[in-house]
Amino acid sequence: MSTLTASTAFEVHPSTHPVSEAERAERMKNPGFGKVFTEHMVTLTWDEGRGWHSGVLKPYGPLLLDPAASVLHYGQAIFEGFKAYRQQDGGIKTYRPFENAARFNRSAERLAMPALPEELFVEASDLLIRQDAAWVPGAIGESLYLRPLMIATEGALGVRPAKEYLFVLFASPSGSYFPGGVKPVTVWISEDYVRAAPGGTGFAKCAGNYAASLVAQKQAQGKGCDQVVWLDAVQRKYIEEMGGMNIFFVYQEGGRSVVVTPELTGTLLPGITRKSLLDLSQELGYGAEERKISTQEWEAAVKEGRMTEAFACGTAAVITPIGRVKSAHGEFEINGGGTGPVAARLREHLLNLQHGVAPDTHGWMHPVV
Ligand SMILES: *Cc1c(COP(=O)(O)O)cnc(C)c1O
Repeated sequence: MSTLTASTAFEVHPSTHPVSEAERAERMKNPGFGKVFTEHMVTLTWDEGRGWHSGVLKPYGPLLLDPAASVLHYGQAIFEGFKAYRQQDGGIKTYRPFENAARFNRSAERLAMPALPEELFVEASDLLIRQDAAWVPGAIGESLYLRPLMIATEGALGVRPAKEYLFVLFASPSGSYFPGGVKPVTVWISEDYVRAAPGGTGFAKCAGNYAASLVAQKQAQGKGCDQVVWLDAVQRKYIEEMGGMNIFFVYQEGGRSVVVTPELTGTLLPGITRKSLLDLSQELGYGAEERKISTQEWEAAVKEGRMTEAFACGTAAVITPIGRVKSAHGEFEINGGGTGPVAARLREHLLNLQHGVAPDTHGWMHPVV
């Protein structure tokens, strides 16, 4: 149910104490990831009677919640992540925001939460970006990260879908994820924990998936690794994802590179970067396949020289090469522990497209400013 249309959806109440240009420049000097936030946010409220209503752009600040709000107890919480990029001509565009809007609704459906019209999701993002346009950095690899989320706010302890929800959208200028250049990571193959099981919430971007992953990430770090690699929950054999990113492997077959990524089974998060890289790989002349890959195959293919690279991908870090793989049974290196040519080329191509350096032949860029 939605009572709002995009054009009339939001009241605008900008901050009465705007951040000075000098202060903003200071805060944006080394933003890192997810530590600096812009001056405004957008919220929308949902209840059974009115659907989505009370859309407002207002100063960034804390939320007021009833302690009985069901999100705090039963975890009805979903989120998204996408980016706005400064263009060559000074304009600003977001990357495939309608894909995020559609995925947001698939997550909402899985958690018995209300759908948000896709136009409203994108309108909220356009409004916030226009208001805080000065916070969109300029260099290639830098961006404004948009974080939409939805939580159940109804104060009621009965276990059932809540009858009230809050949508929040805020933004965070983010530097190049790897200021010192892309550095390959070492991964730990987790056999003690699983991220997602068939019939569960693996395909949904819900907060609980992340809560359940933290202990495995901690274990990986204890083993001297940067990230955890997840296996399927049933056979503990097939590779699913790396941390909060999708994973790709590069094979050499008959004189050309073929990128292979685990097929979507319902337990993997269907990444928009993953989907984009499958398309871009083919355009760059690589083969592209979606299928199951076992840990055994991974090690054997690397040792036999058939697999030359592995990398992870997602909105935040774009592409992260995997240099070393560890598990309870041993370890091996990929591509001498360095960044491979396919990962480097895909990364550069995607960033060029996002910043308007390469032409947007797919209509993936959404103009905002
Ligand atoms: C968000 C996410 C991804 C990456 O999705 P993108 O749309 O490419 O950012 C991959 N895996 C998990 C578990 C995620 O939450």
